[in-house]
Order: sequence, then C-alpha cells, then structure tokens
Amino acid sequence: MKRIALLGATGSIGRQALEIIDAHPGLELCAAASGSQAVDGLAPLTQVGGDLTELLDRAQPDLVLNAVVGFAGLPATLWALEHGVDLALANKESLVAAGELALDAQRRGGGSLIPVDSEHSAAFQCLEGRAPDQVHSLVLTASGGPFRNRTRDELTDVTPAEALAHPTWNMGPKITVDSATLANKGLELIEAHFLFTLSYDRIEVVVHPTSIVHALVRFRDGAALAHLGYPDMRVPISFALTSPERAATPLVPLELAAGLTLEFHAPDLDTFPLLAHARRAGEEGGTYPCAFNAANEVAVAAFLAGTLPFLGIAEVVAEALDACDGTPARDLDDLVAADAEARRHAEGALKVA
Ligand code: NAD
Ligand code: MG
Repeated sequence: MKRIALLGATGSIGRQALEIIDAHPGLELCAAASGSQAVDGLAPLTQVGGDLTELLDRAQPDLVLNAVVGFAGLPATLWALEHGVDLALANKESLVAAGELALDAQRRGGGSLIPVDSEHSAAFQCLEGRAPDQVHSLVLTASGGPFRNRTRDELTDVTPAEALAHPTWNMGPKITVDSATLANKGLELIEAHFLFTLSYDRIEVVVHPTSIVHALVRFRDGAALAHLGYPDMRVPISFALTSPERAATPLVPLELAAGLTLEFHAPDLDTFPLLAHARRAGEEGGTYPCAFNAANEVAVAAFLAGTLPFLGIAEVVAEALDACDGTPARDLDDLVAADAEARRHAEGALKVA
C-alpha cells in the first residue's frame, strides 16, 4: 500500500488526484491539506493552512503529491526531497523559485521527483532510460491559451472572465491566467531546465493549439520521441502516483482516424513577453527565477482582482526583474527574503501601473 499525502486537495489537481487514489486499491491517502477550504474526513490527518511540513512530519507518507498553488508550496517540496520521500510535483512554482536548493536536497535525500505537469510528465517518459549525451533538445508545447493569434491592441481590455476561459485545459485560476499570458510556459521552461538538467538553449517552446502532443525530445541521431494524449491531467497524475506500474485510467485510447490536427507554430514573444522574461530570468539564474515567480503571482492576483490590466502583468514582472540583484540563495531563508523583495517591487509597480 502506497501512503500518499495530498497537499492542495481541494484544487483542480487535488480533486483529480482523489479520483485516481479512490480508484486504485494500492493507493491510500494518509494526509490531506488545503489553503482555506475544509478537508475534514478526506484523510486520517488533515490540515487547513499553516505549516505543511508539520503535517508531513506527523504523516510520514511514502509519497507527497504537492498540488498547492504558488510559492506557498516550497517548504513541502523541500521537506519531501530532503527526507528522501518520493515527490509527485504539480507545484511548479516551488521548483522554479528554488531549483538549485531543491536538486541539492534531492541529492541528499535520494527520493524520486516525478513531475505532474503534463509537458514534464511527457518529457520524463520520453527521456526515461536515455543517456544525457544522446539528447539533442526538448520541445515543450503550449496551447497558446484563449488569446492565441490576438494582437497586443486586442489584449488591452480583456477581462479576467475572458482569460479564465481556457480552450483545452480546465484548471485553477492562477495557472489559467498564466496560460493566457504564456507565463505558465515560462515557468515550465525553468521547471524543465531543473528537472532534466538541460541548458536553456536546448529547450524550445512551440504553440500547438490542440494540446495533443505534450512534449517531444529530439535525439542526436535525428530521431524525435513525442508523447501524445488527450489533454486530461488524470493521465500525468496517475503516472506520477503509480509509476512504473502505469495503472489504467478512465480515458479512452487516442483516436487518430477521426481527424486529429497536429499543428505547431512559433510563439509570439512580442505579444506575450512573459515567456521571454522567464527565459531571461532562467538564464540569469540565482534568485532571478524566484523573483520572476513572485512578481508574477502578485500581478496575476491584481489582474484577477480587477486592479491591473492584462498587459500590465508583464510590465510588473519586468520591473521586478530589473530591480532584482540575482544573488544566489543558500537556503530557504534566503529564498523567502528574495521572494518578499520581489513582491515588494511588484506591489510598488502596481501602484504606478
Ligand atoms: P487550484 O487553485 O485549483 O488549487 C490550489 C490548491 O492549493 C487548493 O487546494 C488550495 O486550497 C491549496 N492551497 C493554496 N494555498 C495553500 C497554502 N498556503 N497551504 C496549503 N494549501 C494551499 O490550483 P491547481 O490548478 O490545482 O494547481 C495546483 C498546482 O498545480 C499549481 O502549481 C499549478 O501550476 C500546477 N498545475 C496545475 C494543472 C491543472 O491542470 N490544474 C496543470 C499543471 C500544473
Ligand atoms: Mg503544463
């Protein structure tokens, strides 16, 4: 029996994970947590808000599924990696903010880190068992979000409701806005850099409107392996929870003859500059990715609250990155300080935006 601690149990990923766990006789929930909604009765140990590492200390799970949204998920990510407890990671923000610390903790702890993000789950599977020197490059696909093909002028007045209407994925509000700005693909670029130890020049992003190909790995011999499937997060969640078993899910097999469209385009970085800002932050390294993430969280919250226009999100993030000094983070305290500093700059930029 694999005992799972599910953090972020009330969210989009959390609810789909509950479905997978319920359906699998070899998986059981030992702890569940949320930020504010009730989780009573979901698991023997539950917690709303507070320090998630205390819950993990009490639960001693075999696997942590971190499906918290935002930087708030970081202590739990580091707890699992440090303790050698397997980590199924949906909370990409923690790996973006703390990539180097997280990988150091994993080396000490020795547990596995299995991505839940669909693109990274796909890449993980394409890369499984291959030597790093065989790999030429990784391609992450992006649906392009609800505003694909729009010009900057056409984005001036878009509302939170329009940004929340994602064409292919049904997800929590923060990641849905991130998908509309392409900040999500920026976070995923940095996430992939740390997960697969690939330099940024070997990670490409392409727009693929139907979200059928989740990722593709090119090898040095000219071959490319892609991972295909309908856009449904139960597949990568199930893979992360049951790997290497690859348990059955309720999904129907991929149907090709019905007319599947596989189109790919270059992203429009002028209209969606957050992807370029993320690449710059990743290449700069140190605390830049942490600052990118923090400023983006502040800006997205302001957009959702109706106090920042859509195009202001990228401006606020760019200002916070300009103000960042990028010093390396030695420990969690350094990162918490860098996160707070970037949030202060972003809040300041909001006032003038
Ligand atoms: P969501 O907003 O639907 O749910 C977030 C969950 O986190 C909720 O249960 C909430 O209560 C909890 N939470 C928030 N702050 C917390 C705190 N301080 N302590 C404990 N719990 C807290 O978000 P989501 O869409 O499920 O996304 C969760 C994570 O998974 C994000 O990092 C997101 O980027 C990633 N992800 C989501 C999807 C998706 O399809 N939804 C796909 C890929 C990656
Ligand atoms: Mg993704």
